Amino acid sequence: MACEILPYVLDPTPSYHPERQQYHSSEILQRMQALVRPQDWRFLAIADVDLYIPILKYVFGEAQIAGPCAVVSIYRLRQEFYGLDRDDALLSQRLLKESIHELGHTLELRHCQDYGCVMASSPAVEWIDLRETTLCVFCQSRVESKLKPSVRELYQRDIAARSWSS
Ligand SMILES: [Zn+2]
Ligand SMILES: [Zn+2]
Repeated sequence: MACEILPYVLDPTPSYHPERQQYHSSEILQRMQALVRPQDWRFLAIADVDLYIPILKYVFGEAQIAGPCAVVSIYRLRQEFYGLDRDDALLSQRLLKESIHELGHTLELRHCQDYGCVMASSPAVEWIDLRETTLCVFCQSRVESKLKPSVRELYQRDIAARSWSS
């Protein structure tokens, strides 16, 4: 699918909670809603701050089940966070896996028991490294059944927009 990198930045400051010294990811997701345009199918934010939800110590990301918004943060994906040497290649792999994982949640995928599947849960960063960047066969078939009507809808919307503008 076509992907567009938007030129603006959402300031995370209003979602900062001093008592935790972290940013509430659900609040960020909520504020992202206002930025979603009708033509946006999925909307992913990349953050560099420490995210949390109240029941957990931290999260690598969060998504709206059934979409469209998802947020991931590189904060705890960086090797430096764990006192290790910077590794940009590893960071981009982790960010890719986390992004696909959260986008999977927007397609109503749940956590997968297969630890190699991109939808496996990750209690710590090492678990992300065990995952592939792809879905297992089971998740793949689940997502295809979800994706097809949406893709069809997008296509129809695209056709409608073209006939409108011409
Ligand atoms: Zn998850
Ligand atoms: Zn799976």
